[in-house]
Amino acid sequence: MDLRTKLIVKPGTRLKLKDVDAGFHGDYASSEHAKDDLARNVARLAELQQKLYGEKKHALLVVLQGIDAAGKDGTCWHVMAAMNPQGTSVKGFKQPTAEEARHDFLWRVHPFAPGLGEVAVFNRSHYEDVLVVRVHDLVPKAVWSQRYQLINDFEKMMTLHNVTILKFFLYITPEEQLERFRQRLDDPARQWKISEADYKERAFWDQYIEAYEDMLEKCSTAHAPWYVIPSNHKWFRNLAVSHIIEKTLDDMKLALPAPTVDLEQIRRDYHQAAATKV
Ligand code: AMP
Ligand code: MG
Repeated sequence: MDLRTKLIVKPGTRLKLKDVDAGFHGDYASSEHAKDDLARNVARLAELQQKLYGEKKHALLVVLQGIDAAGKDGTCWHVMAAMNPQGTSVKGFKQPTAEEARHDFLWRVHPFAPGLGEVAVFNRSHYEDVLVVRVHDLVPKAVWSQRYQLINDFEKMMTLHNVTILKFFLYITPEEQLERFRQRLDDPARQWKISEADYKERAFWDQYIEAYEDMLEKCSTAHAPWYVIPSNHKWFRNLAVSHIIEKTLDDMKLALPAPTVDLEQIRRDYHQAAATKV
């Protein structure tokens, strides 16, 4: 099954998230059955990123959104672990600083767009400005409602510069979120991640769902599609995201640049001469 076709939000369509099964795990019976495919994807990502870096004709931007504990951090870790840190970056977007808040909402985002040859991952993104900002009325509706088009235009501009954009919405159920919060409370290695605010945000679940549905409808475009990733199973989330990135990079037909020098001449006139001197 091509998970891209299955999980993409077709431009112009409205999805009801309650019709999406957050526990979906494709043709795989369990994580054990997915292990080999996951390892293969990871190996391919490493190879393809090296080509992207060498060729310097394309860039890749991966945008991650999802409710607290949906797995944004875990996905960054997983995807990035497959790649060479040289040529890659991760940028997390938090509450705007005072300086950021004095500018338009895209001002803080643009400097982190990947340059040709680079892969960038956004852990949260400019979409927060139509999500948390909308749910908590941080700006008037007249302001946030214009941002969908501004975002589409911003993303279009990047794609005209050969940046391929993949947007993943990590979708979990409220029950799964609560279970993950419990694990955070109980696991000393994860206690630093939990706060009162995480619980308070749960009261806004339905408003977030509405904001996500609007975001997916208005901003899944042919040039920068959204994918809804069923994320109750972390292993399936990693598998789906790595699969989609792998297929997308593969379609770019990346090729390392041809040598710009005469290798035969260098072998003959330089290498052999150097070798006889050691
Ligand atoms: P975390 O990703 O858990 O470290 O939390 C970052 C926090 O920053 C989240 O609560 C986001 O909703 C918040 N945040 C990110 N971008 C914005 C924004 N543009 N306006 C307001 N809050 C934001
Ligand atoms: Mg958090």
